Amino acid sequence: MRKKELACEVIRLLQKEYPDSVCTLDTGDAWQLLVSVRLAAQCTDKRVNETVPELFKKYPSPRALADADIRDIEKIVHPCGLYKTKARDIKACMNMLCERFGGRVPDTMEELLSLPGVGRKSANLILGDIFGKESYVCDTHCIRLTGRIGLTDGSKDPLSVEMQLRKIIPPEESGAFCHRLVDHGRAVCKAGRPLCENCVLSDICKNRNLNI
Ligand code: SF4
Repeated sequence: MRKKELACEVIRLLQKEYPDSVCTLDTGDAWQLLVSVRLAAQCTDKRVNETVPELFKKYPSPRALADADIRDIEKIVHPCGLYKTKARDIKACMNMLCERFGGRVPDTMEELLSLPGVGRKSANLILGDIFGKESYVCDTHCIRLTGRIGLTDGSKDPLSVEMQLRKIIPPEESGAFCHRLVDHGRAVCKAGRPLCENCVLSDICKNRNLNI
């Protein structure tokens, strides 16, 4: 099966299996998602969702967060780990949002990447979930699953995976496809031992029965 055909079939099967997949970070205003995405690095979405209400209650706008005492941001985001770096990036990012973009989150990859602490993964998520644009969020689940299934060459480099997926996943399917990969990666195609016997992709996956 050619990669484009394989991709169509994977999209169809995952759509049937996970019709309601969405981002597991709570989504409020665009700038709030930007903050949550930064906090989610090496942290669970659940922990981030538990942490941000206090931050957004105390600092309810990009300007308020940009002007906040960094030690207070550090204290609030401490449970998410890497708190010093994350607090610094959040404050700088909110400051740039206010100074350069009038307090609004930009809607192009180039502009998003110019914000402190925002990489391609975060930018793709914002483009898809906030602006409804094509969105190839190459996180650990996406990289692992697309490699195992045979949609990519198995590269672990997020940019390489993104570029390979851009050639075979239709733009309008891209955002939901990546959210479904996260759900499937958590439930079935786990990092340790994939549960191929329970997998809806087992008839078409290149690496089915990986551990047998
Ligand atoms: S068949 Fe196995 S390796 Fe392939 S996607 Fe399913 S769980 Fe993962």
